[in-house]
Order: sequence, then structure tokens, then C-alpha cells
Amino acid sequence: MRLILLGPPGAGKGTQADVLAAHYGVPHVSTGDLFRYNLRQGTPVGLEAKGYLDRGVLVADDVTGRMVAERIDREDAAPGFILDGYPRNLAQGEDLEEMLRVRRLHLDRAVAVDVPEDVVLSRITGRRLCPSCGATYHILYSPPAQEGRCDRCGAELLQRPDDRAETVTVRLGVYRDETAPLLAFYRERNLLETVSGLGSVDEVTARIREVLHD
Ligand code: AMP
Repeated sequence: MRLILLGPPGAGKGTQADVLAAHYGVPHVSTGDLFRYNLRQGTPVGLEAKGYLDRGVLVADDVTGRMVAERIDREDAAPGFILDGYPRNLAQGEDLEEMLRVRRLHLDRAVAVDVPEDVVLSRITGRRLCPSCGATYHILYSPPAQEGRCDRCGAELLQRPDDRAETVTVRLGVYRDETAPLLAFYRERNLLETVSGLGSVDEVTARIREVLHD
């Protein structure tokens, strides 16, 4: 299963990618998570990416592409992957095609998770993240049992710096201008499926599995 999840920030791609990855036994490859990991580790990629992440704009295509290629070449991605956050513009869509072509692999589907902008805004600004185990919460829709603490590991929950309202506006603009054209790109290739991202996590998962005929 080689799948791309498309959709604006806050559409629930990360949550759905986790569920689908467990279901299909393939890794969830999130470029945002990979950049944040590199940032925490202080790697050259992390240092390069920091300014872009802080501002909510895209990291250079070549840096991002190399990071993705390295990730999908790892052994656990041999049976497939769920890509979340890549590609993010048309050039990356073409880079990914080439990346797969030279490896004699193909994409099964691109699933767009559709959520209106006002919903996305409230989802993102209420989002909280466990810096220790990566669990995600929402202060209204899926709060932790104890306020500000991770249910799984007890660490103090944080808000991603780029989830603050000022940066979210920039990220939504980037989505509209740079990422949304990928919908037509995958539609032309007969790979695009669109599902509504409204409702519960289970409802959205069920919609995705339905369009995947699973
Ligand atoms: P995300 O967690 O997917 O919202 O990504 C967080 C940030 O990481 C984005 O705002 C970008 O700065 C960077 N990023 C993630 N994926 C990509 C990508 N495919 N290309 C360029 N930058 C990216």
C-alpha cells in the first residue's frame, strides 16, 4: 500500500495516517514529524528547516525530497508507506513520481481529506502534542484525562509553535497556493479520491477505507 494523504493542515491527515499505517502494516511517513525530529536532534537538515517551520512556509524541495527518499528506502517501508505532508507542491509531486519510477514502485492512491477552513482553524489552534511520545490531543474534542498531561506517558503537553493563529494563517495560504494544485495533478493521473474529513476519527477512517475498497 503506497498512499498519499492530501488536505490542509488540521484536516486530520496525521491521525488518519496513524490508523491506516497500523491497519496496513506500513510506516506513517510525515515530513512535518521528520523535520521536527531533525530539529530536536540538531541535525544539519533540522538547522536548515528551522526558519521555514517557524514561519509556516515550505522547506526547499531538494532538502525535503532527499529526506523522504532516505525514509522510504528504509527496510520497514519496503511493503509500502502512508505519506502525510508530502508532496506539498507540484514540483514535489513530480519529484515523488521520479523517486518511485527509479525504484520501480507506484502509488496506489492519493486521498484528499476535505475540511472547510473555519473548522481547520479551530482544530489547529486547540491542538496539543506530547513532546515525549508524540500523542496528539485537542483541548475541546479529545482532551487528556488530566489537563496539560499526556495520558500515555505523563509528559507535559505543548502547542506546536507553528499552530499559533498567526502562523496558521500563513500555512493555510501556502496550502491554497502551493498544495491544492496537487488535487488536479492526481486527478489527471486517475489516482485521486476525496473524502469529507468532518466527523469522528472512526467515521473518517471508514470513508477512506471505503474509497480504497478495503
Ligand atoms: P506539518 O506537520 O505537515 O504541518 O508540517 C510542518 C512544517 O514542516 C510545514 O509548515 C513546513 O515548514 C515543513 N514541511 C512539512 N512537509 C513539507 C514538505 N513536503 N515540503 C516542505 N516543507 C514541509
